Amino acid sequence: MALSKNIELIRERINKAAIKANRDSKDIKLLTVTKTRSIETIEEALSYNIEFIGENKVQEAEDKIPFLKGKFKEFHFIGHLQSNKINKLMKLKPTLIHSIDKYSTAKKLNNFLKQHSMTQDVLIEVNTSNEESKFGATPNEVIRLIKSISQLENIKIKGLMTVGEFVADETVIRKCFIKLRELFNEIKTAEILNVEMKFLSMGMTNDFEIAIEEGANIIRIGTAIFGARNY
Ligand SMILES: *Cc1c(COP(=O)(O)O)cnc(C)c1O
Repeated sequence: MALSKNIELIRERINKAAIKANRDSKDIKLLTVTKTRSIETIEEALSYNIEFIGENKVQEAEDKIPFLKGKFKEFHFIGHLQSNKINKLMKLKPTLIHSIDKYSTAKKLNNFLKQHSMTQDVLIEVNTSNEESKFGATPNEVIRLIKSISQLENIKIKGLMTVGEFVADETVIRKCFIKLRELFNEIKTAEILNVEMKFLSMGMTNDFEIAIEEGANIIRIGTAIFGARNY
């Protein structure tokens, strides 16, 4: 099967990149991005030792995640979160939300969590490439944003996420990942109450090896596992 072969290849490439960076590949979580893939295809991937799956749209996740219950270890939400979709997303019990970039969304999420006596682990998304079309807090505002969100008791900030710039130039992509790692270390050193810098989520099909070299411990892979997406 192509799918099992692709997964095997990705694991090999992760190992290689880890060795090159003098890291242990066990410290790198492979998040399999299942957006646009059918339940059957995801089930097949899960049968090849895939444990962590990520979706980027609440509606689509609602249509699939409940039917995969018990078959995966963790479901992560990686897309832009609209505040009117918070209730629906929380029903799916995401282990981690990668994409908080606004205080207002965090505040609404916190209200929901308080009402339900829950907490939620999140990452703060940073726009490291300064592209207008991208979501994420700007590098300049991220520390202030994190300090504000850290006051929301039911939200647990666990790290940072970014999407590297969509360009062929490796130096430009690497700059994005270096930026995120530097922010990660800066925030770690600041020792903000209720904030833990544990996860650095960066790297996708086209750039995950660079991300691993720059310290990523969650990489988000779709295309290299399932092939090109048909929207
Ligand atoms: C789609 C998506 C990915 C996976 O991208 P591929 O290039 O298919 O590996 C990773 N992160 C986010 C936020 C995505 O939306």
